[in-house]
Amino acid sequence: MLTGEQYKQSLLDGRNVYFEGRRVENQAEEPAHVAPLEAVAAGYDKYYSADEDAVNPMLTAPRSPEELRDRIPSLMELDLALNVTYQSLMTLIVARNRLTVDSGEFGQRITNYVAQAHRRDIRVVECITDAKGNRSLAPSAQDDPDAYVRVVDRTPEGVVIRGAKLHISAASLAHDMLVMPTKRMKPGEEQYSIACAVPVNAPGVKIVNTTFDPAHRERRDYPISSRLSMPDSFVILEDVFVPHERVFLDGQADQAAVFAHSLGLWERLGGTSFMVQQADELVGLAVLIAEANGLQKVAHVREKIDEMMIHATTLRAGLEAALLHAHATSDGYYYPDELYTNATKYQGATRFNEMVRHLHDIAGGSVLTAPSMADFDNPETGKAVEKYMSTSSSISGEYRARLFHAIRDLTADAFGGWHAVTNLQSGGGLYAQRLVTRKHYDVARAKAYAMDVAGISEADR
Ligand SMILES: Cc1cc2nc3c(=O)[nH]c(=O)nc-3n(C[C@H](O)[C@H](O)[C@H](O)COP(=O)(O)OP(=O)(O)OC[C@H]3O[C@@H](n4cnc5c(N)ncnc54)[C@H](O)[C@@H]3O)c2cc1C
Repeated sequence: MLTGEQYKQSLLDGRNVYFEGRRVENQAEEPAHVAPLEAVAAGYDKYYSADEDAVNPMLTAPRSPEELRDRIPSLMELDLALNVTYQSLMTLIVARNRLTVDSGEFGQRITNYVAQAHRRDIRVVECITDAKGNRSLAPSAQDDPDAYVRVVDRTPEGVVIRGAKLHISAASLAHDMLVMPTKRMKPGEEQYSIACAVPVNAPGVKIVNTTFDPAHRERRDYPISSRLSMPDSFVILEDVFVPHERVFLDGQADQAAVFAHSLGLWERLGGTSFMVQQADELVGLAVLIAEANGLQKVAHVREKIDEMMIHATTLRAGLEAALLHAHATSDGYYYPDELYTNATKYQGATRFNEMVRHLHDIAGGSVLTAPSMADFDNPETGKAVEKYMSTSSSISGEYRARLFHAIRDLTADAFGGWHAVTNLQSGGGLYAQRLVTRKHYDVARAKAYAMDVAGISEADR
């Protein structure tokens, strides 16, 4: 396994990383990348073992529903790079089981790849979302055939791919990218039916980053963003060679969706678990700020908090159901139920704004205008901002300001803006969750109940 320091050194491998129009030679020297780099390095140190055969325990597949369930709280603690590595490896394990065409050959390559990813202790990011061109047209009907990643050449040793993968979390801080078809492919779209693992430093790979990291702001005013920022990447693949042993699907259009479906499962489980935790955080912030403002006993405030609690509890119930109804692959690995995971994720994403509305409504305008923590330090302003931000002898101005900064950062500023969109789009967006729900919902049962309650039968049709 790697230590945090070894991990940092491993990124100095000639990769082509860009940020705000500049090439970034060393991410440790790029202010907006320092906090996420340190967070990933801390994740390495946390699970490091000097034992030669050691494998990060967070990257092994659950062998029972209990193990799947017990893993959730630890997953919430992981840095994003380790979290997406878990999701990528779990995706491969489930996909290996679901592939039917050539599954022997591809299955063996997947097994080998997962074993070597464990052994090398690398971080692997999920690269599924293509540039996609005109959304109404199929990959093969686009004006630009590169709108979806495709195979453009072959050699006896492997394939050459071209295209771009967008919005990829943590790519510049990882070692490998798991490139997968973003959706089902049709006959004639064999060149787009490619899944493979590409090293981040492979010739032809360029990574253009964006981030919400508050690098040039007072970090105490951004208690969440300064801890949780992670670059999102626009990954350009300019004729990248991939050797056969790293290719997990190549030309089997009817199997292309296997990877997206397998990934969606883990992506949405992660998203749902995060939403459950965040719903509790929002309830907690609403209670704390109501208390700090002296409003905790006011009827309309209590009702709003009650509604928030009901929503948080419903999400938790959905997550529990997804875990309780876990399924096993034929080789004994457990994954969460798709219907409950998707329905819960959808519910969390669509009602998130209502939770935030209640919180902002209860909290007041200082969510946006509370003075910076640096203004508390400044002798010219410190006493006055403390005096007027305080609401009683038991609530200091600084404490209340810190609550406001947390609420702003979490819901109305850097992390908050990122999260508002990510909530809707991660895991393929709301549309994807509706499709999966439709596929797995027991509509026959619903129709039978409806017939029953209406007092009619098939014979009455
Ligand atoms: C911060 C962030 C991090 C992300 N991290 C990752 C990551 O690590 N890896 C990764 O692979 N992806 C990642 N994603 C991508 C995410 O999965 C996509 O944003 C999502 O799938 C939507 O794709 P899109 O952004 O291209 O939007 P679009 O596909 O343009 O979708 C916009 C809207 O149009 C609708 N739409 C699109 N096409 C059609 C159609 N043919 N018919 C009907 N409606 C359509 C969609 O349902 C949606 O409502 C991330 C996204 C964000 C915002």
